[in-house]
Amino acid sequence: MKKNLKGKIFNLKLFKKLMVFVKPYRFYYHLVLITAILLSVFSIVTPYLLKIIVDDYIRPKDYQGMKIIILFMLISLFLTVIFQILFVYFANFLGQKVINDLRVKLFKRILDFKLDYFKKNPIGRLVTRTVNDIETIASIFSQGLFLIIADLLQMFLVIIVMLYVNFELSLIVFSILPVVLYATKLFQKSMKKAFEEVRFQVANLNSYVQERISGMKIVQIFNRENEEYEKFKVINRFHRNAWLKTVWINSIFFPVAEISSSVLIGLIVWYGGYNIITDPTITIGMIFLFIQMSQMLFRPLRQIADKFNTLQMGMVSVERVFKILELDFKIIDNGKIILKSIKGLIFFKNVKFSYNKGEEVIKGISLKIEPGQKTAIVGPTGAGKSTIINLISRFYDIDSGKIHIDGFSIQNIELNSLRKNIGIVLQEVFLYADSIYNNITLFDSSIKKSEVINSAKEIGIHDFIMTLPNGYDFNIQERGQMLSSGQRQLIAFLRVYIRNPKLLILDEATSSVDSYSEEIIQNAINKLTKGKTSIIIAHRLDTIKNSDKIIVLDRGKIVEEGVYNDLLKSKNSYFKKFNIKKPLNLVKNL
Ligand code: ADP
Repeated sequence: MKKNLKGKIFNLKLFKKLMVFVKPYRFYYHLVLITAILLSVFSIVTPYLLKIIVDDYIRPKDYQGMKIIILFMLISLFLTVIFQILFVYFANFLGQKVINDLRVKLFKRILDFKLDYFKKNPIGRLVTRTVNDIETIASIFSQGLFLIIADLLQMFLVIIVMLYVNFELSLIVFSILPVVLYATKLFQKSMKKAFEEVRFQVANLNSYVQERISGMKIVQIFNRENEEYEKFKVINRFHRNAWLKTVWINSIFFPVAEISSSVLIGLIVWYGGYNIITDPTITIGMIFLFIQMSQMLFRPLRQIADKFNTLQMGMVSVERVFKILELDFKIIDNGKIILKSIKGLIFFKNVKFSYNKGEEVIKGISLKIEPGQKTAIVGPTGAGKSTIINLISRFYDIDSGKIHIDGFSIQNIELNSLRKNIGIVLQEVFLYADSIYNNITLFDSSIKKSEVINSAKEIGIHDFIMTLPNGYDFNIQERGQMLSSGQRQLIAFLRVYIRNPKLLILDEATSSVDSYSEEIIQNAINKLTKGKTSIIIAHRLDTIKNSDKIIVLDRGKIVEEGVYNDLLKSKNSYFKKFNIKKPLNLVKNL
């Protein structure tokens, strides 16, 4: 454990990586270091001047000389305050500057990750990395590193001055050290255990509340309110007890620490006084000095372990954050071709793809979609329909074969330019907790309001939006829970329609809507796909009937292709088989 701790704190390689982010602010870094050193020196100068006043001016009754030293004391105090202010402000300033840059860089990195990453890693972990871990890194600067340097330096200087001034009094101070050290260690050990329990109880409380609130419908349907209430009271009691334990440990430790420091003062006064009376090698000024310096030795000693802990926790966070920063999980964007406006000719040749090695999901698909053609892809769940969408828009790269758009391999097209030309509407519509307007424009200020309104009218959602309080400014809370699935689909259509891409990919919603909404959605789809190359993962009969081509997919292969009537007419048709056997899987409302 100790080795591990040491290894983490003094992981120089990691520290150097962090220092790269400090580099732009090295002026402040040096400023903080220098103020830390000066602070340690000046906090010793002041008590030392007091010793001089007592021994060299008060006892010989030199009032004029004393006034000069008091002036020096004031200057020293003033400088200590100034250095303290500079130190605290710039240590925090530096920390905030560094984590600001780190967080932006981390978020930029995450934005470029392949979608696969988000499927395979818990989202909560990424949120923790970008928010909590980065915050902890700031404490390396504000509460860890510099304070440790300042404390160690101060303790070192205090010991030197003590030994220089009087050896016997120094020994008395050092003799109490083991007691303070032992008590501190005991306190920290108990505190660590208590805090672990607190953290556990807080997590427990959080997940309990979160789960019950998100699953409130189930709680109420099954009449579980009373049971949940009683259970919550128990969890809350554990939580309270865990906190009370930390309060208890704190309330014991601090009086004990105070008593030991008072005992030490007593010992210094007792031995010093005895010495002055019997064999004057000690002066009254020395007693004053030792009382003050012993406090200056013990205070940092009590806190230094905490600061090492902060530093260690900060370094653990640095390690975690850099693990993500250094992760190479991007879609390679080497394409040079920039497509201004595409015609929409799509071509697949023997495309094979697997999400996980050895588990082929697309098993050699070849197809051609002519510009302006409306193509419906149908097939049972798991056939690979959504995967085809993922491949065309390069959310994943194919293992072998070719995908061309307008004759260019999609890997040679600049990623941004490729995606700009493709409009995608997925089944699950993601909405920001923001206004309807921003959800349509996706915060793109180049889109004019009149454009939004005209497009909404064409798509057929304007009237609905106007019924909402504040119309387009209506705030969609918490991912659009207030909107029906049909309304969410229409907003998603509008998002794409307004951008007018030449190639459209649509994953029709499977959830049922009433016939009135059905009609609006069908009109919207017709409007959206007019004059465009469109690929629709179709679930509705109307869409399938209106397509220029139907592709039937099963287990990663195209098993049939053609127009609706031909497919129905042909003997042993897969399409027909699906139609009869699994109507819901293939075509809703058939
Ligand atoms: P469909 O859209 O036709 O229902 P998908 O294209 O979603 O089918 O899925 C095809 C197959 O790929 C399924 O077996 C599914 O389990 C698998 N699959 C889909 N997404 C992933 C993923 N991110 N990682 C691993 N396997 C996946």
